[in-house]
Amino acid sequence: MDDCIFCKIVRGEIPAAKVYEDTEVLAFLDITPVNPGHVLVVPKAHFEILQAIPDPILSKLIVVVKKIAGGIRKATRAEGINIGMNNGAAAGQEVPHAHIHVMPRFKDDGYKLWHGTTYPQGEMEETAKKILAALKYSPSGQAPRK
Ligand code: AMP
Ligand code: ZN
Repeated sequence: MDDCIFCKIVRGEIPAAKVYEDTEVLAFLDITPVNPGHVLVVPKAHFEILQAIPDPILSKLIVVVKKIAGGIRKATRAEGINIGMNNGAAAGQEVPHAHIHVMPRFKDDGYKLWHGTTYPQGEMEETAKKILAALKYSPSGQAPRK
């Protein structure tokens, strides 16, 4: 992935404020933080979205997210932590190298990350049924292979 900005960071071709590194995972500060101390946790190998990350690597990523959340809390005295992941352009993903945002939060920092909506009558149950059926068919949630 020659042009991928996060691959370039992994390869050391562009600078980043790294806060954690092992053989498969890298974590560094986001250059436009929601609050100072906002960290991105990325797999070193290039995968575009969550569903593309092999489970063993994903397991390592989430353990690092937990560790980083503790570090951020201590270092920034954050009162809370948001964990976020944008998957796909429609979900706001700007860098197509999967990454998990770990964001320090404070009671009065003014952010509201999403606004909930409501279901029309009966649609909630219908939606749950569709997802249940999809998960039975393909537990990873991915389109089944032919
Ligand atoms: P997303 O919208 O989930 O794809 O978020 C991409 C994030 O990457 C944004 O919050 C950017 O501020 C951040 N970002 C982009 N380029 C860099 C960089 N060179 N170093 C650190 N963070 C970056
Ligand atoms: Zn990449």
